[in-house]
Amino acid sequence: MLAALLGQQGLQTVVLERREVPFTEPRAIAFDPETLRTIQRIGRLDALAHTLELDVPVGYYNGRGQLLARMTSTAKRYGFSPRGTFYQPELEAAIAGALDGYPSVSVFRGITVGDVADLGSHTCLSMTDTAGAIHRLNARYTIACDGGASRIRERLGIAFDGSTFAEKWLVVDVQHDDYPHREIRFFCNPKRPAVTLPVSKNRRRWEFLLMPGDDEACFADQDNARALIEALSGSSPRYIERSLVYSFHARIAERFRSGRIFLAGDAAHVTPPFAGQGLNGGIRDAANLAWKLAAVCQGRMRDPVLDTYDAERRAHTHAMTALAVRLGSAIMPTSRSRAFVRDLAMKTMWAIPSQRARLDRGDVIPSPSIDRSSLVNWAAGRPVGQMIPQPVIQIAAGETLLDTLLGPGFSLIGIDVDPREALSPADFATAEALQARLVHLGPGGDGLDTAGELTQWIGLKRGMLLVRPDRFLVDRIPVERPGDKLAWMRRAYHVVASPARANQAERTAA
Ligand SMILES: Cc1cc2nc3c(=O)[nH]c(=O)nc-3n(C[C@H](O)[C@H](O)[C@H](O)COP(=O)(O)OP(=O)(O)OC[C@H]3O[C@@H](n4cnc5c(N)ncnc54)[C@H](O)[C@@H]3O)c2cc1C
Repeated sequence: MLAALLGQQGLQTVVLERREVPFTEPRAIAFDPETLRTIQRIGRLDALAHTLELDVPVGYYNGRGQLLARMTSTAKRYGFSPRGTFYQPELEAAIAGALDGYPSVSVFRGITVGDVADLGSHTCLSMTDTAGAIHRLNARYTIACDGGASRIRERLGIAFDGSTFAEKWLVVDVQHDDYPHREIRFFCNPKRPAVTLPVSKNRRRWEFLLMPGDDEACFADQDNARALIEALSGSSPRYIERSLVYSFHARIAERFRSGRIFLAGDAAHVTPPFAGQGLNGGIRDAANLAWKLAAVCQGRMRDPVLDTYDAERRAHTHAMTALAVRLGSAIMPTSRSRAFVRDLAMKTMWAIPSQRARLDRGDVIPSPSIDRSSLVNWAAGRPVGQMIPQPVIQIAAGETLLDTLLGPGFSLIGIDVDPREALSPADFATAEALQARLVHLGPGGDGLDTAGELTQWIGLKRGMLLVRPDRFLVDRIPVERPGDKLAWMRRAYHVVASPARANQAERTAA
């Protein structure tokens, strides 16, 4: 994903992958709407459609099969289904397909990176090919996306603190599924906690907690997996694609940047899968880092803007990992007394209408945000720092999702005001330096937010929204704001002022 986003910006990018052929086993399975939004940016939604199972409800059931809580809302706040599943090899293939369209990206398979040296002005990678030949490559920046056991993280001496759970899970992927419930089902049964998820094309995932006394060595045997599935579903799966015992970890690297080297994806953070967050978190990393790297490498911003990657991603990563750990401890109790207390707590919450509505909407999931970022004009008040919703916009040709109007870069959206008329010459120069697209939503403009979703969210009847390429709102600008409205941004984003642009702005201002 990172390579695709960099390729979209025309950045010379080299992908080095140890495997000669793509990994074909599914691991990640649940998506977040922000992930689909990022895939929308690289134009691969159509290629992905066949592997998505959209609007899948989530249900939690106790040992007696009674419903404890359920999430069913299908509100498309970010333009897409709030939850659902995919088949990881197909998702990865759809994303990788984007690279064919970016001539500045080269992919080399069968290459194992041994080390990366930060030489101050650039990085130098040493690597081995399948024939054992050693190669070197110089790059301005290196991003280590080499998984949870990241060799690069280890070589940099970056601590990977957190915990590994004592509990182990059997993960079974089946095909030709005939389990009748189209739901992500958590069986919170103290006798053996389990989870099942429907996947596109009649596939299904089953997960079972190993209990004391289970023999791990033969637990993943197909006969055992079949027996466990049959006991829960009443029928034996026709085809088991894969059956494997996993340990889960919750760890976050002590820093995501070391000079010219960055960590992303599992190399930076690993989380238990109960909130379906590992791959989604990696895509958030890519969306955060890509535009910053492009802006720095293309001379539009200076290097310190890259320091914000760690601060912006860390708080949300912590929040998501904590959610996964909490969900894990709600699902995993194997003592009857703890399960009883859990059931009571969940049933009580479910009985309170306001709490039930919160759960149903998925409000317990931390919303995408860049808290503690220095790249946000916090003085403008909430919802700055949050991801903007993606409503359907009425345009001359019909309807479209908002991001289609915004394009892949920065955007300045005028609500009932044309940004071209509301900006000072200096602001124009800043917008130009950021390559921001100016969009007017309102009568006679580029489109109409007919449901008023953005107006409501922003709490402004007339004003502008400054939105980053990763769709976070960084400023909320009432038309009355005096002076240069974007002056703060030039400093915060380390924007490189082009002399030509500055002169032009001065001349226009004069
Ligand atoms: C059972 C299970 C269920 C999960 N469910 C979900 C879910 O529902 N939702 C979700 O979002 N996530 C889920 N995850 C997590 C998700 O699978 C991972 O977070 C995600 O695959 C990590 O992607 P990555 O690219 O960072 O790392 P990886 O997928 O591990 O990729 C790292 C790549 O780097 C390559 N590599 C490593 N070292 C080198 C080297 N020295 N040189 C060259 N190449 C190298 C590897 O070959 C590999 O291709 C789940 C994980 C498991 C195990």
